[in-house]
Amino acid sequence: MSQYSQTPGANIAEVICDLRSDTVTRPDAAMRAAMAAAEVGDDVYGEDPNVNRLEAALAERSGKEAALFLPTGTQSNLVALLAHCGRGEEILTGRGYHVYKYEAGGASALGGIVLDPLGVSEDGGLRPADIAAAVKEDDSHHPITRLLSLENTHNGKAVSLARLDECIAPARAAGLSVHLDGARVFNAATALGCELTEIAGRFDTVSICLSKGLGAPVGSVLVGPADLIDRARRWRKMVGGGMRQAGVLAAAGLHALDHNVARLAEDHARAEALASALRDLGAGSVEQDTNMVFFTPATGENAVLGMALAKQGVVISAGGAGAIRMVLHKDVTDDGFAATLAGLKAHLS
Ligand SMILES: *Cc1c(COP(=O)(O)O)cnc(C)c1O
Repeated sequence: MSQYSQTPGANIAEVICDLRSDTVTRPDAAMRAAMAAAEVGDDVYGEDPNVNRLEAALAERSGKEAALFLPTGTQSNLVALLAHCGRGEEILTGRGYHVYKYEAGGASALGGIVLDPLGVSEDGGLRPADIAAAVKEDDSHHPITRLLSLENTHNGKAVSLARLDECIAPARAAGLSVHLDGARVFNAATALGCELTEIAGRFDTVSICLSKGLGAPVGSVLVGPADLIDRARRWRKMVGGGMRQAGVLAAAGLHALDHNVARLAEDHARAEALASALRDLGAGSVEQDTNMVFFTPATGENAVLGMALAKQGVVISAGGAGAIRMVLHKDVTDDGFAATLAGLKAHLS
């Protein structure tokens, strides 16, 4: 089962802490007020002022020429891959990366694009030698290798700038373009203590989610050079992502950029505290990076733990085997966090 599998018994009366994902964050009162007040226009005509503002803001913050607002991160990655590659062309990416594993094969199904999945290293990056070896030679037997697609953060791991450079070098040497699935790139920048431009500047295109830790209800933004973003805009229309008065959603994104980026450090600190509490209990193995904690109970009884916590209003993704992922985010209250720690302690000690 994937990390997105549900917890048995999760349909409980009162949820006081939901750690399944940072996608569960809801627009708060201030964000809803910004959405309600948003001036709107028809974005397919390029006339929605808030969409235009959001695209300009993220282009600027990432140091790119242009940007495109999309309903989801999956669609943002999809139109990026379609803008970079034609039919019979190939993308090198990670076997466990979202683009390969969790986007329903869209680039292949809709774009005739081949994906060559490489093994992902412990640190979330790829191995430079694998990338160099996977670039196909110019031979009519092979697809044409066009693009390297990386991910940061991957499973919460912030891939360092040095590791990104190591992966990008062989791709650039072979003339490939590079895309970043930066769904949580602000978490990466927070953990690495760098500016968004330092990460984005290494890539041609970057996809950024507003609806994860940043707390917007909907939306992703693809940033890149103007010609590529123009092509992506045409693909967005083709796959049905051209929204009309999308300013109510873009206003949420703008609010998130202004208010919810700096506070990501609080989620990381809470994840550290949760990991440390779990380590103290000594009831399994624990890994923590940025806002994510992966806990593998020594008993292997994930579902039992999941159901016990659910009874106390704490929801985790414990439906599968292996590691249980717990994700910290802005809607985790002090009380909810305390209940999580208490619940884990009660059931694991
Ligand atoms: C969430 C996520 C996406 C996009 O997912 P949507 O649910 O389509 O918004 C892409 N990549 C990664 C790594 C993600 O975590």
